[in-house]
Amino acid sequence: IVRLEGVNKHFGRLHVMQDIDLSVAQGEVVVIIGASGSGKSTLIRCVNGLEPFQSGRIEVDGKTLLPNGASGKSLQAVRTEVGMVFQQFNLFPHLSIRDNVTLAPRKVRGMTRRQADAIADRLLARVGISDQADKHPTQLSGGQQQRVALARALAMEPRLMLFDEPTSALDPEMIGEVLDAMRELVNDGMTMMIVTHEMGFAREVADRVVFVHGGQIVEQGPPDQLFDQPRHERTQAFLSRVL
Ligand code: ATP
Ligand code: MG
Repeated sequence: IVRLEGVNKHFGRLHVMQDIDLSVAQGEVVVIIGASGSGKSTLIRCVNGLEPFQSGRIEVDGKTLLPNGASGKSLQAVRTEVGMVFQQFNLFPHLSIRDNVTLAPRKVRGMTRRQADAIADRLLARVGISDQADKHPTQLSGGQQQRVALARALAMEPRLMLFDEPTSALDPEMIGEVLDAMRELVNDGMTMMIVTHEMGFAREVADRVVFVHGGQIVEQGPPDQLFDQPRHERTQAFLSRVL
């Protein structure tokens, strides 16, 4: 459902993505790990067109993103089909929880408020915060806000979900509830690309773990292989620091 071919990206002189080739199959869960500054966020942001790139191509569910902003209509199509959850929850502070979830379905999908509210109530129940629907984001804990962000992304019925360190901004006691909500999504067969430092979670849910360093994919494989028998010395060095 996702295929990156020969993708290169520079920030000025910095070569943040170097000939990246990466495919993700329908229903696959791919976890991306690597040190700070290795290019994990940039990689994942390219997949939903948040970052332009300079060469190569990215295919997402049959739509093609091209270098240098030449994607045309595909860009909007990809953005509506891909859900993303960030480290910072990025909720709309002036809207209620329910309206945070219903905004995109109403504006982008043209749903009536009634239709969108029904979907929001179902999704908020699913992430365990039905009772918070009429509150505003600042009245919720970080873990609750992140679950709203997840419900909001799911409201667009995405074909693919991207996560960029969804638990990194949370107090430790709230990490579990967000990981639980993500686990449910995994069990539902959602295709997911996840950047995380939660190595236990990665080992548990990943079909494949991808280690990036200096803008390159150094090594990838099933979690047991990558965590227990990393082949590349850079992977070994990284894992010895984080495990
Ligand atoms: P972290 O674990 O800290 O989130 P990361 O692996 O997600 O790191 P990226 O955010 O993808 O790393 O950044 C990769 C490199 O690109 C870093 O050296 C970063 O400083 C640089 N970079 C990221 N965004 C920009 C930007 N908008 N302009 C210039 N350089 C950038
Ligand atoms: Mg990052």
